Amino acid sequence: MSQHILVLPGDGIGPEITREAVRVLEACQAQGLDITIEHDIVGGAAIDRHGVPLADETLERARRAQAILLGAVGGPKWDTMEDISKRPEKGLLALRKELNLFGNLRPALLYPQLAEASSLKPEVVSGLDIMIVRELTGGIYFGQPRGFGEREDGTRYGYNTYIYDEKEVERIGRIAFDMAGKRGGRLCSVDKANVLEATILWREVMNRLAPEYPEVELSHMYVDNAAMQLVRAPKQFDVIVTGNMFGDILSDAAAMLTGSIGMLPSASLNEHGCGMFEPCHGSAPDIAGQGLANPLATILSVAMMLRYSLNAPAMADRIERAVGRVLDNNLRTADIAYDGTRQVTTREMGDAVVAAF
Ligand code: ATP
Ligand code: MG
Repeated sequence: MSQHILVLPGDGIGPEITREAVRVLEACQAQGLDITIEHDIVGGAAIDRHGVPLADETLERARRAQAILLGAVGGPKWDTMEDISKRPEKGLLALRKELNLFGNLRPALLYPQLAEASSLKPEVVSGLDIMIVRELTGGIYFGQPRGFGEREDGTRYGYNTYIYDEKEVERIGRIAFDMAGKRGGRLCSVDKANVLEATILWREVMNRLAPEYPEVELSHMYVDNAAMQLVRAPKQFDVIVTGNMFGDILSDAAAMLTGSIGMLPSASLNEHGCGMFEPCHGSAPDIAGQGLANPLATILSVAMMLRYSLNAPAMADRIERAVGRVLDNNLRTADIAYDGTRQVTTREMGDAVVAAF
């Protein structure tokens, strides 16, 4: 049975990079991958047409899809909107929440051909291959109660609630243990169990799951130490699992180790294996429409889609190998170009990957 893919290009460079990724998806289709590709709009584009960042019919289409390929949303045109609840980014948050995409996978992989772009010394990062598994629909970003208040003396305050229940921890834990089992067999759970009760429970649940995964070696680390270790000796990590806020921060730090925001894909999964796949970077309005954007993060997001939602890991491998060959041939978009490489446009990069596929 044909699997439905929904493509939501978004704003800024979103349409240009998504176009190239869809060409790679079509190349897979031509090789026998049984999919149906639909297109719709989200974010600023949807605000302009429908007045809301995620129209009801788009959400319905998203619910029916096995996987969503998303470009990026937002831009200066909508940054001044008075009503924050209608900003482009709310379209993304709504998709995550409505589709229950609690499992966020963010690989930090250093391509050997790009080692010079890293912020760290080559010996510290060469061979770097970390997978961060971040809980995406709970924790302090969503916990209730939250809000603002005022003390009796008139001093204002703001507050949030850091909350996880056992089920939420268990389901993200299982994704992470499975992932570690398929990779190097090492899982580091990051928490702040010396200070925060919610993370004491987090650690308990991770320990409880561990015996079910004898092939995985589980360790724990406090988040402050994890941030330090990521920058000091990142290769000690294989899979990291952590909550929403810590994962937000650590995955950005890990991304910078690879030195190339235009190269990093991501996946957000629910318990049925449906997922949304998107580059880690934003809509880059500063370079939109100029053919400068690097489409590889989005193309690599297609590879994650094939591996984690469409059960086509061999096809995913082929895409990743094609990207490797293109880099071997010294083709570079502006963000990853340096002396001795050949600078190409967004479209030319897409052409090269399709040709190498
Ligand atoms: P967000 O808030 O959505 O995360 P941002 O505004 O923080 O986004 P980006 O939109 O990711 O950041 O852009 C940050 C910088 O990286 C910009 O200078 C942008 O041009 C550059 N950039 C982002 N993505 C790409 C890409 N695919 N190719 C080349 N440069 C990129
Ligand atoms: Mg932005």
